[in-house]
Amino acid sequence: MTETDFTQPVYHESDVDRRHVDDKTVAVLGYGSQGHAHAQNLADSGVDVVVGLREDSSSRSAAEADGLRVETPTQAASEADVVSMLVPDTAQPSVFAAIEPELDAGDTLQFAHGFNIHYGQIEPPEDVDVTMIAPKSPGHLVRRNYENGEGTPALLAVYQDATGSARQEALAYAHALGCARAGVVETTFREETETDLFGEQAVLCGGIAELTKMGYETLVDAGYSPEMAYFECMNEIKLIVDLMYEGGLAAMWDSVSDTAEYGGLTRGEAVIDDAVRENMEEVLEEVQNGQFATEWVAENQANRPSYRQRRKAEQNHEIEDVGERLRALFAWADEETNEETAEEREREPEVSADD
Ligand code: NAD
Ligand code: MG
Repeated sequence: MTETDFTQPVYHESDVDRRHVDDKTVAVLGYGSQGHAHAQNLADSGVDVVVGLREDSSSRSAAEADGLRVETPTQAASEADVVSMLVPDTAQPSVFAAIEPELDAGDTLQFAHGFNIHYGQIEPPEDVDVTMIAPKSPGHLVRRNYENGEGTPALLAVYQDATGSARQEALAYAHALGCARAGVVETTFREETETDLFGEQAVLCGGIAELTKMGYETLVDAGYSPEMAYFECMNEIKLIVDLMYEGGLAAMWDSVSDTAEYGGLTRGEAVIDDAVRENMEEVLEEVQNGQFATEWVAENQANRPSYRQRRKAEQNHEIEDVGERLRALFAWADEETNEETAEEREREPEVSADD
């Protein structure tokens, strides 16, 4: 059954009864990063799949070329027992409003991220199951792993269990996606949403971008060349992160020189100090109390003025210009196997209307 060396239940294929999804029709709404992977993996697993896309969606031809049946989101939801909400998070409330009348008692509303449920942007009827299967990978890897007979780990959460079998049904969905080959870790909508937002703001996207720029600026302001500053503060991040991904901090410390290890162990905590910890706690609080969610919803309703302005400022940072020229020297790096292939990139989602 579940493993005891984790704090959360972890499910594998032997824990799953596939009958919970095998006799169902699944509507996959959206055919972007996650949508194309869910639709194709489920269909290849023998599940009846219908893709829901707008009449004018440029993703329609891609889904049809992949051998899938395509309907409007409303029509797809009306046929389905399970509706998988894989349009962009900002588009989900309006898509939900359109398909809500098609949800019958006992149907399932399935998510890959908890934002709209957790922050009340979608309020599902009480007689449907509301679950989440969130693969911990971009869609192209969810698809490629499945085709290679491998699995992508996923998170499972149950927000509402109207039928009494919501968890089993979500596990069957994860199994058909290939995720139970690797492991399905149970969490909650709240935990998934809040840790996801905190991680991308404080550590992954926001934290690392600011750390990189601040390191670059510190060197350039002190008179060092932009090329050296770029190599030290951006290019080498990948080498370090790859080691951490493969073997944790130990693999990283083992691989760098003793000088780098001693310098890092003593100076790292001088840079990322208790003031940063307090900043992180504030960021987490704004995630927990809904302030960030309220701000982002309002920003979208106002057509994203601050988002556009900040995106532009980021694009104009000097490190981007230096980096573009230096990366041309590394053109061979594009062929690395873990990158999306050109074919996978071509299937990129159309930009949604609000983008
Ligand atoms: P995406 O932007 O890649 O694709 C969105 C798809 O929705 C496109 O096919 C687009 O055509 C369609 N679409 C856009 N607006 C629409 C509308 N108004 N009506 C109908 N269709 C519309 O999205 P994604 O990154 O796959 O995200 C889908 C969900 O998966 C989100 O909840 C996201 O948080 C979650 N998720 C994404 C990833 C990831 O790696 N991208 C990982 C885990 C979870
Ligand atoms: Mg239905």
